[in-house]
Amino acid sequence: MNKEPKTLQEAILYFADPANCREYLVARRWPNGVICPRCGSDKVVFLAKYNRWQCSVTHAARQFTSKTGTIFEDSPIGLDKWLLAMWQVVNCKNGISSYEVAKAIGVTQKSAWFMDHRIRLAFGMEPRAKASGHVEADETFIGGKARNMHASERARRITGTGGKDKTAVMEILERGQDGEPSRVRTTVVPNRKKGSLQAEVRQHVEAGAALYTDALKSYEGLTEFEHQVVDHALEYVKGQVHTNGLENFWSLLKRGIRGTYVSVEPFHLFRYLDEQVYRFNHRRMTDAQRFDFAVRGIVGKRLTFAEVTGKSGSQEIF
Ligand SMILES: [Zn+2]
Repeated sequence: MNKEPKTLQEAILYFADPANCREYLVARRWPNGVICPRCGSDKVVFLAKYNRWQCSVTHAARQFTSKTGTIFEDSPIGLDKWLLAMWQVVNCKNGISSYEVAKAIGVTQKSAWFMDHRIRLAFGMEPRAKASGHVEADETFIGGKARNMHASERARRITGTGGKDKTAVMEILERGQDGEPSRVRTTVVPNRKKGSLQAEVRQHVEAGAALYTDALKSYEGLTEFEHQVVDHALEYVKGQVHTNGLENFWSLLKRGIRGTYVSVEPFHLFRYLDEQVYRFNHRRMTDAQRFDFAVRGIVGKRLTFAEVTGKSGSQEIF
């Protein structure tokens, strides 16, 4: 086996070999040895000819591959293409359209679109503990009509009455503590009214946190936070009271939207937001680390279930 890739060029060569794809996933998914995703037994036999394992315990569906139990499961598209698509999505600074992914890995644009959608699932894997310490909150409008969104996407993204010409996005940034980078989360909100914005703040920020917002009236009354209002008329930053962290995020985001997504349908914007947040929050990682982390998210999808059933610590519960 060659060394794990560090660049896109290396990734193309490395993942062209099915054995490398398998080894890469196995190392992350089963660091203590392959176990059956259905029963958890480690009595498994590798069937090299079929590039799959067979569990020695008697039960239905004893054979499995490294795709089984991941977001790749049941996809006829090879891991080589999946992993290259992922590499590009997590590492292209301004994002990559499904058209570009399609061209790069040799699938139809429609396939690439669905792949991108599944890959995005990995980005939501991090624990969503409330932001604490020093927190910046702000909102912005992004072009695109909510009514053009696919109905299910709209239902997921927007609750309450929406459907204005532009889409309001709430962003919350938790400043880094102890040298850690700051981290952003974004949500689409129906409007900039007090009810919408304050509900978001309360859902994502711990009471007692130092909260910095602009002077928008909607933010008035957030009394359970150490709320301080940024005075944009001031030309200097008043100590900690600023939203410069978020402004950095948005300038990156808007540059990306202009460069890559200028002609894409509105719902693509939301996928783009998730991707951009993922890249921003992991901006200090190398390409190889950022990819590694995303892959762990994908193969770890069943961990949530394990935690729910009280079996946390176990690797993979199907
Ligand atoms: Zn088994």
